Amino acid sequence: MRRLGAIEAGGTKFVCGVGHEDGTIIERVSFPTTTPQETMSLVLDYFTGKNIEAIGIGSFGPIDPVLGSPTYGHITTTPKPHWGGYNLVGAVSGQFQVPVGFDTDVNGAALGEYTWGAAQGLDSCLYITVGTGIGAGAVVGGELIHGLSHPEMGHILVPRHPEDTYGGFCPYHGDCLEGLAAGPAIGSRWGKPAGELPADHPAWAMEAHYLAHALMNYVLILSPQRIVMGGGVMKQSQLFPLIHTKLQELLSGYVQHPALNAEIGSYIVPPQLGDNAGLSGALGLAKLALARA
Ligand code: ADP
Ligand code: ZN
Repeated sequence: MRRLGAIEAGGTKFVCGVGHEDGTIIERVSFPTTTPQETMSLVLDYFTGKNIEAIGIGSFGPIDPVLGSPTYGHITTTPKPHWGGYNLVGAVSGQFQVPVGFDTDVNGAALGEYTWGAAQGLDSCLYITVGTGIGAGAVVGGELIHGLSHPEMGHILVPRHPEDTYGGFCPYHGDCLEGLAAGPAIGSRWGKPAGELPADHPAWAMEAHYLAHALMNYVLILSPQRIVMGGGVMKQSQLFPLIHTKLQELLSGYVQHPALNAEIGSYIVPPQLGDNAGLSGALGLAKLALARA
């Protein structure tokens, strides 16, 4: 079986691994994200001599994933020191003459769940992560959605919960979805880290209010065949039934499909790739790059 390289480029660490086209990951390592020079020299050394036939990179962003664009392969406007404008694909291609796949971490995760995980066998799916930030990626007909750049579905506007007095923390929009519902928002609103709030805390009904509004928009705009919800905040598994009920209430029977009615429990689901989601996503991007080469 062909060997593929995978890079999960995150704001705190770069996870690198080697895997196969069937999604198996044979080995993995992790390097701290410091400066591009330091981190990338560790990454490039790691892949040297590994006999890989393609490399996939799922990256923190914003990035430019549009082939043919002058800044394709670059990290663009990140507030992360040293990384703004960095040519990640250029660094990898300069060292290895193999096809390189490049996309956002959430697009990668969407592709991973679509190829090997919770959305296997379907034609479309949406993956959303609710963690330090909120981001989502979507696969439609086997293709990841791009346009001008990549979607930024975490920054949509949602109606405020009537009892919410928290202002929101997004530096660009204040109370966009990410500003109101990512992990740090929950922590600031309730004065305690999200992971320490009990399962019956009112925080979770409010969280479900925000996430269900977002999902309503995604369902109405994209009509994905399944929605996979991951990230640290979704470890609160009591959120799933709260979101199911709230989404049904919001849609109000308008979209008639079993997935949104009797089968909603298998429509909005946790990731199946678990802790491997990021790396599997990057592996999926490598597989796609190889198929296109
Ligand atoms: P990142 O988004 O940085 O990749 P995570 O997906 O782990 O990382 O998200 C981290 C966020 O998730 C933090 O804001 C943290 O408070 C929150 N979080 C982590 N674990 C839990 C948990 N068990 N329950 C609720 N929130 C959690
Ligand atoms: Zn925002």
